[in-house]
Amino acid sequence: MSAPFCTDCGTEAAMMLGWEAVVSDPSLADARVWSCPVCRESWCRHDPISDRPIGTPAGEETRTARALLAERQIARIIAEALAQNPNASALADDRITGFTAALLGIERGHAAIEQLDLEQCRKLWHALHRASYADIVRHAQTYRPGKPTQSSLTEQGAAA
Ligand SMILES: [Zn+2]
Repeated sequence: MSAPFCTDCGTEAAMMLGWEAVVSDPSLADARVWSCPVCRESWCRHDPISDRPIGTPAGEETRTARALLAERQIARIIAEALAQNPNASALADDRITGFTAALLGIERGHAAIEQLDLEQCRKLWHALHRASYADIVRHAQTYRPGKPTQSSLTEQGAAA
C-alpha cells in the first residue's frame, strides 16, 4: 500500500490515529487516518476494510468543497438517475467519474471526489451546476476513453 500525497502541498502523508493528526471529528479519534506532516489539519480517512486511503489528504477548505460537491451536486444527479432506474447507482457513479476525468483532463483513477483539489472542485461544481443526469449519460455515450482512434488502428494495421 502506497501513501497518498497531500492535495494542498504535495508532501507524502503519514498514517496515524485521528487524535494524533488533530482530527476534530471525535468519532475518528481512534481511527487510522493519513495526515500531511507539513500542513495543519490536512488529512483523509483510511478504509480499514480495503486497507487503503480514502482519497488524498486535504485541509479544511478543500475537504469542505468536496463535501459540498458530494451533497449538493453529486447526490442530486444520483437521485435523478435512481428515479429513472433504482438499480443504476453504480452505473451513475461510474458515469460521473468519467465525466469528471474528461472535464478536468485527469485519469479516471484520480477523479474520485475525495481526490480533487480546490480548483478541481470549483470547476466540477460549475460544470455540474448546470448539468442533469441526461447530460452525464449523453457525455458517457459520446466520450469513450480507451476506445482506439482511427489513426491508432491504422498504425496497428501497418505494424502487423
Ligand atoms: Zn500538505
